[in-house]
Amino acid sequence: MARLLEGKPIAEKIKEEIKIAVSSLGVKPVLASIQIGENAGAAAYVKSQAKVAESLGIEYQLHKLGEETAEAHLIDFIQKLNLNRSVHGIIIQMPLPQGIDYKKISRYIDPKKDVEGMHPANIGKLIFGNAKLVPCTAASAMELIKSTGVDLYGKEVVIVGHSEIVGKPLSLLLLEKFATVTVCHIGTSKAGKLEEHVKKAEILVVAVGKAGLIKGDLVKDGAIVIDVGINRVADKIVGDVEFEPAEKRASWITPVPGGVGPLTVTMLMRNLVEAVKEQQ
Ligand code: NDP
Repeated sequence: MARLLEGKPIAEKIKEEIKIAVSSLGVKPVLASIQIGENAGAAAYVKSQAKVAESLGIEYQLHKLGEETAEAHLIDFIQKLNLNRSVHGIIIQMPLPQGIDYKKISRYIDPKKDVEGMHPANIGKLIFGNAKLVPCTAASAMELIKSTGVDLYGKEVVIVGHSEIVGKPLSLLLLEKFATVTVCHIGTSKAGKLEEHVKKAEILVVAVGKAGLIKGDLVKDGAIVIDVGINRVADKIVGDVEFEPAEKRASWITPVPGGVGPLTVTMLMRNLVEAVKEQQ
């Protein structure tokens, strides 16, 4: 029976490290958060980010722009924040209204203030193994894996999902540790090869967003399972992996909710501290 790999205790430990780091920066870190329009999901993220920021001695500045905000205006707003020396980090809340392209917009953020780690300059640093600002969800998955104490050298890791925020950056972080990384995606499934890859995973990370995509009995005995997926099924939040059968086979497994989720805001704040250091 697997041990539960919960995000909260790891987040609490990292928060203590962040508090210490913040107190030695000589400046109060400021995170500027841009929310466009009203959205319940974005509002919940903002609330949780503001709360964590406050507990860490970080100033959280919320900038609410109207639903009708034009892309050009948003770019102008971002550029003002880039030039504002009292602001150390910039985050754009999702979802964005139609007509605003996150990929395009995020490129206008000064890479030194890019606390989400999504600017091409920061993604490029991931390839060279010297990234300071790492996409938060990938960093969270990495912290969960590290917390098990597993030696990644030569380990067979299978990631399902190749998105820019999870699968791709995580594959680079794991390669840096000399894991053998297989990245599966829709093409793998369509070719009927997903099962054979999942079965060989000593560490399995699933980030797709489809409840029950990974049948629990495919999980290799003793595997570490990181389920990033968030799916609402009949008023319950579940992951992408069938939890009960997977729990019987794995050595460690993240609960959903309670695994990756509680760590992501902490990773954001850790990036902010790195951003301050980069700017000093
Ligand atoms: P995306 O939709 O951007 O990516 C999903 C990925 O899964 C894509 O690479 C897609 O491939 C792949 N995929 C889709 N269907 C299949 C399939 N049948 N077999 C194999 N691969 C498939 O999602 P995100 O990366 O943004 O998020 C993934 C999940 O993680 C979501 O449930 C999201 O809610 C959750 N999440 C959780 C966070 C947390 O804090 N816990 C934070 C961020 C995300 P292709 O693009 O080729 O179709």
